Amino acid sequence: MRRRKSGIARRTPLKIATAAGIALAATLAATAGATAEPDAPSPRSGADSTQHVEYFTGPAGHPRHTEVPAPDPLTTKERKAAADDGTVVPIVQNGPVGSKADVVFVGDGYTASQQGDFHADVRTKWAEVSAVEPYASYKNLFNVWAVDAHSRQSGVSGDPTSDVRKDTALGSAFYCDGIERLLCVDTNKVEAYASKAADPDLVIVLSNSTKYGGAGYNDITSPSGYDGIATASSDNEQSSQVVVHETGHSLGKLADEYVYEEYGTYTGAEPWESNISKLTAAQLTAQKKKWYRWIGQSSPDGGTRRRVRGRRLLPARPVPPDGQLDHAHPRPGVQLTRT
Ligand SMILES: [Zn+2]
Repeated sequence: MRRRKSGIARRTPLKIATAAGIALAATLAATAGATAEPDAPSPRSGADSTQHVEYFTGPAGHPRHTEVPAPDPLTTKERKAAADDGTVVPIVQNGPVGSKADVVFVGDGYTASQQGDFHADVRTKWAEVSAVEPYASYKNLFNVWAVDAHSRQSGVSGDPTSDVRKDTALGSAFYCDGIERLLCVDTNKVEAYASKAADPDLVIVLSNSTKYGGAGYNDITSPSGYDGIATASSDNEQSSQVVVHETGHSLGKLADEYVYEEYGTYTGAEPWESNISKLTAAQLTAQKKKWYRWIGQSSPDGGTRRRVRGRRLLPARPVPPDGQLDHAHPRPGVQLTRT
């Protein structure tokens, strides 16, 4: 699908489609007809900058956030190597490019002779991701592509231990910034490969590994049009839930819904994300904002959709306690904490 190419879309309140009952579907509907805007700057890079990443320490844990060093810009040689490498292989086709959300998987840690394994892993991973709502109900809105990247060595760095180093096309590595389950990647190399696909909306790096891990680079706005990159280990089913969670941010434009008491209480302007609000249930209903249509209805995670008190994750700094944020729209892969 054609989408806005700047970060503006991420901070603009989404128009909730009248027929769609799920935020992700609303996003797809709202962005489907958007016209392209001038290209956004390249993803941040350079030795003096950092990237914000989200990760999980284990399948049952809450997401955490940290800053990791940004990769250096690609050299001419690296750019050429990526350009000369990699074939784009269709995995699932539900319609012409541009008419659907195009999911692009890029493989890392697969040698030239393992590309068949990569394609099989893409099918498996997509099956695991799309088994989760809202993907399950909207499967036919997606095309899925595999972009081959030939790594010199099989497997990825940091698997199983921190001293393991592998020469791979995208530089996937566990123990990123010393955190075992944080699976980082060179996002500039990812861009070089993902941009081979015609219209990438969602980019997932599959790192050839059985070890649990992943990462969400949700602050990236790519020149190719996608917002954010999710990484996951290819042969670990639990890692698929990392992808589901991170694409809730990058594609669904949804905020986290869990509580870190140390962040204090949000006191800023009405958030742009469609699943959180400062308004009460009565105000949402009166003003016909956000999830007002579903207040009082049963929720896919059990219980009743209603006003739920909680606190937004505030990644920057704590704010003084004063009035709470209300949010009640569950999303896939997110632990909704009700207080
Ligand atoms: Zn999150």
